[in-house]
Amino acid sequence: MLRCSFCGRRAVYHRRYAGVFLCDRCMIKSVERRFRRAISENKLVMPGERVAVAVSGGKDSVACLHLLHDYCRGRRCELVAITVDEGIKGYREQSLPVARENAEMLGVEHHVVSFKEVFGAKLDEMVKIAAKRVTGLNPCTYCGVMRRHLLNQAARELSADKLATGHNLDDETQAIMLNYVRADLSRLYRLGPIYMPREGFVPRIKPLREIPEKEVALYTLLRGIKVHLDVCPYASGIHTEIRDFLNSLETNHPNSKFMILRMFEEIRPHLQEAVPEVEMKSCESCGEPTSTRLCKTCELLQGIGLAKRRKNLISDQNS
Ligand code: SF4
Ligand code: ZN
Ligand code: ZN
Repeated sequence: MLRCSFCGRRAVYHRRYAGVFLCDRCMIKSVERRFRRAISENKLVMPGERVAVAVSGGKDSVACLHLLHDYCRGRRCELVAITVDEGIKGYREQSLPVARENAEMLGVEHHVVSFKEVFGAKLDEMVKIAAKRVTGLNPCTYCGVMRRHLLNQAARELSADKLATGHNLDDETQAIMLNYVRADLSRLYRLGPIYMPREGFVPRIKPLREIPEKEVALYTLLRGIKVHLDVCPYASGIHTEIRDFLNSLETNHPNSKFMILRMFEEIRPHLQEAVPEVEMKSCESCGEPTSTRLCKTCELLQGIGLAKRRKNLISDQNS
């Protein structure tokens, strides 16, 4: 029997990059410690703040909700959960109840914002229209841009000081590599534990950024937290190629993901001057902040003959 390198109990996990074995208790403690350290070192959450958590129902966002809930206890922070229902058949209908159940169990106020209600079409419908119009854009482009748009707007309407997402180490290193491959300096610059954007945008925080995906999954399993584990049917293309590449790199050379993250942190401060300052305006169509005439969401919607229907997300929902 393999024993925990810290307490001698039965090991459940081999942390190859650190050369140690961990038992269930030490594993849970280690994830929680890393989470708290990420918050305090990067000043992600300050006492008294209201934090909106993007909760899809998947393991990362649900773990983030539970960890923040524990963290906020006794620190006068307030949590609110937001789920975006993109309208992906066979996927989101199953993860949404999991998000709701977890928020309810923790007593966290929960809001659902749907593509169908706000944009007049589900992601599945948008994908079909886009295929007919041969836009050349893949589902993740619509999904990513529009989900970020709704999350930011909902968090702002809910008077949140921060918007937390469940990005783990694997997500972050994939994003770093993707922006290298695409040579996108301004998106690369926006990565990091906290991104303090311009007016109209709620600062985004990633408290799980230094925790490998495997460890987040194991953490939810060991704590008996209910999560949705399926993979989105649209997940494919360059994102999955980069994920597979990083996983094989990590298998053959443990610690590679952390090294990619550390190297990026060294480079990041030097990127600011390469990213041009842009003047912010209001989108001519929906009024949301943007640096161009139309925000990216309205531009994508226009390309498939749609327009944003609802200007206010939360207040219209409650009225
Ligand atoms: Fe959206 Fe693409 Fe993620 Fe699916 S894989 S949830 S389409 S971004
Ligand atoms: Zn132990
Ligand atoms: Zn717009």
